[in-house]
Amino acid sequence: MKSQDALKRLLNGNERFVENKQQIVVKSSSQRREELSDSQSPFAVILTCSDSRLPAEILFDQGLGDLFVVRVAGNVINPEVVGSVEFAVQSLGSNLVLVMGHTKCGAVTAALECTRDPSIRLSPGLSSIVDRIRPSIERVISSGGSRSDDDILDDGIAENTRVGVELLLQSSEILREKVNAGNLSILGASYSIESGKVSLLDN
Ligand SMILES: [Zn+2]
Repeated sequence: MKSQDALKRLLNGNERFVENKQQIVVKSSSQRREELSDSQSPFAVILTCSDSRLPAEILFDQGLGDLFVVRVAGNVINPEVVGSVEFAVQSLGSNLVLVMGHTKCGAVTAALECTRDPSIRLSPGLSSIVDRIRPSIERVISSGGSRSDDDILDDGIAENTRVGVELLLQSSEILREKVNAGNLSILGASYSIESGKVSLLDN
C-alpha cells in the first residue's frame, strides 16, 4: 500500500474511533486470525509511547495484522527501536512510519522535572529513557520566552516526536534510501489523550 493511502487509512480509522463508529470487532475475528497464520503485511508502522491510554490498534480502529507497533516509554529512539522499524519496512513491506507522541506524556514530564531539578536521581533504566528526551526539553527552554511549564511540556512533546523522525532517518540507511526513493514516508504525529484525535505535526 502506498504511503499516502496508508496515512488515509490510519486517519479514517482514528476518525471512526473518535466518533465511536469502530469496526475493529470484525477485523479481529477468528477468520482474520486464520488468514494471517502464515504471513503478515502490516500497512503501517506506529512508533509510540507505552502509555496505557494509547493502544495503537484501538485508536486507529485497525485489526489483526494491520499495524506493526513499536512502543517504548516516551517513544524514544534506541538501536532496538530502529531495528524494529527497519524490519517492518524491509521485510514486511510497510511504507509508512508514524512516530506518535501524546499529550500528558509521563516520560516527557519526567524529563522536564529532571531538567528543572538536577538533584533528582533515577534508576539506570529510567535515566536511559529520560536522557534521550532531555535535549528536546532543553532546546524548548532555551528557545526563550517566559512560558509556563505546561507550554514547555507541550512543545517538548512535539519536539521529542520531531527528533524521533530525524533520528530514525539519521541512524538508518535502509530507511533513508527508501524515503529518498519516494517509497517510504516517516511522519510525526500527536495523540490527544483528551479527545482521542491524532494530528499530524508540521514536519
Ligand atoms: Zn508517554
